[in-house]
Amino acid sequence: MADTNAVNSQAEPQVTMRESSQTIPESSDENEPVFIDPDLEFIQTLRKRGVDTYKKCMQCGTCSATCEISPDFEPFPRKEMSWASWGMKERLMADPDVWLCYHCNDCSTQCPRGANPGDTLAVIRQESIQHWAFPRFLARWVNEPQSILLLLGIPTALLLLALALKVPIEEALGIIPRMGDRIVYPYSSVFPHWLLISFFLFFSFLSLGLGMIGIGRFWRAMKKAFPPDRYAAPGKGLFQSTLVTLKNIFTHDDFAKCNKSFSRTWSHMSVFFGFTALSLVALWIITGRINPFMQGDFVYPFSFLSPWKILANVGGIALLVGIGLMIVDRFKIKEETSIGNYFDWMLIATILLIVITGYATEALHYYRLEPHRHLAYFVHLVLVLGLILYLPYSKLAHMFFRTTALIYAEYSGRKAELSKTEIAIQENAEQNTDQSTTEPQAAAAKAANS
Ligand code: SF4
Ligand code: SF4
Repeated sequence: MADTNAVNSQAEPQVTMRESSQTIPESSDENEPVFIDPDLEFIQTLRKRGVDTYKKCMQCGTCSATCEISPDFEPFPRKEMSWASWGMKERLMADPDVWLCYHCNDCSTQCPRGANPGDTLAVIRQESIQHWAFPRFLARWVNEPQSILLLLGIPTALLLLALALKVPIEEALGIIPRMGDRIVYPYSSVFPHWLLISFFLFFSFLSLGLGMIGIGRFWRAMKKAFPPDRYAAPGKGLFQSTLVTLKNIFTHDDFAKCNKSFSRTWSHMSVFFGFTALSLVALWIITGRINPFMQGDFVYPFSFLSPWKILANVGGIALLVGIGLMIVDRFKIKEETSIGNYFDWMLIATILLIVITGYATEALHYYRLEPHRHLAYFVHLVLVLGLILYLPYSKLAHMFFRTTALIYAEYSGRKAELSKTEIAIQENAEQNTDQSTTEPQAAAAKAANS
């Protein structure tokens, strides 16, 4: 763990308030005064989202010293706490460090003032998703509880429209519905595969495209506000940065460094691998017509004992376990930190409902309950479509933002600044080497004395 005094020695530049329009202050020269135009709306937003505790921060630096992920150079989250209290929204929106935090709340539990830096960073990330989103009004709706019916209504209407147009399109294009020859009781009479695949593919690509606009904005802002030459350590190439980041994500290496909420690593990993398993199955189904490996039990619709059906069920269980652990975790730590806000719970509830309706559909299908199985499947599809449509605006967008910030941290050299854990590992290794050379000498001296 780094020395708190060392953390405090990262002096903030002298600050003067003025009325001009807000720009990202240049702080490369710490002796130059920095002019700040506080974003009062941003300060109000932090308050509304339940983290006005940041005002209690006295800049002691305990949080930065506690965080095992934070580098020694310009450590977080102390500096983000001061930027938040100054209303420096633009700087925080472009700050990659905000996304290097895994919200373990180790820092919040150690903060002597109860300023809750872990949750403050989480709310800043939420604001960041909304800030870079395109179109922004969708992100605003996702953040407003009063828009929940509207958000549910859009995928419901789109799916109903697709079903209403199913027969006219089949007739116009001469599509013969494929009923599936392995399962004699398929869904395709109501939800034909061609319709679901084309419909979901279209909205997935649309959502990804819109999400990439936001990510492009975020990348450019990081490069402008925190250029690679800010960091002494050399960065990696873009390709290598991406590979290193993907490895880090798959192994959850950074996550595992957090001490306090070790269970978060498992819950997150479980949700991550659940999503990965279900995405693989979906990809297999989508590419079915052109997939040369689609033989026997691998043909969709799958039999109950098909390896892909089993993988999908295991993925669903992994999601349930991960989400369950997340909920338990939130209530376990609620005395020291908050249990999360609407934005967090919206995603948790959506994933939970998707898994529950997925299993309900499977069970109702198994017992041939008509029309219940189709109704359950319809609700399941509406929720999945909602998850896809609002992906760039919901908490799930952290998949893209965190990955982008991690890639940028590798690319810019930010990540090459050694973390405290890595320093501790190095020091331990050096001590062990010293011990292995000094221990035989000590033993010889002791023997001589005796
Ligand atoms: S958030 Fe808490 S621990 Fe961090 S600098 Fe402020 S008072 Fe200290
Ligand atoms: S929540 Fe955890 S990862 Fe984030 S700044 Fe605090 S200690 Fe570091």
